[in-house]
Amino acid sequence: MQQYKTKQEQMKFYKSKEWRSLRIEVLKEQNYECQECKQQGLVTLSDPDKHKSLDVDHIFEIATHPELALEPSNLRVLCIPHHNAKHGRYHRKPNKWDADERW
Ligand SMILES: [Zn+2]
Repeated sequence: MQQYKTKQEQMKFYKSKEWRSLRIEVLKEQNYECQECKQQGLVTLSDPDKHKSLDVDHIFEIATHPELALEPSNLRVLCIPHHNAKHGRYHRKPNKWDADERW
C-alpha cells in the first residue's frame, strides 16, 4: 500500500496523473460548487473557470487513510477559504507581543 506520510509523498500524489484526472471528475460531478458553501446556500452559479479557486478535499486525509486517496466517495469540492479553514490554515501570524502582559 502506498503511504503518504511525508510532504514529499503527498506532493508526489497531488502531481500524479491519477489524482489530476480524478480531481477534474469530482469537480464536474459536484458542479464546481464548494460543498460547504452549498450547504449554507451560498453557491448558485457554476462557472467552469471557478475550478481555479476550488480544491478537492479528502474527507479522510491521505496521510492517515492512504487507501482512500483515490476513492471518489472520500472526495468533496471545497473553496480555498473553506479548505484552509478545515486544515486550520488561517493566516494568523503569531504576534510576539501576544503572550506579554500589557500595561
Ligand atoms: Zn466554501
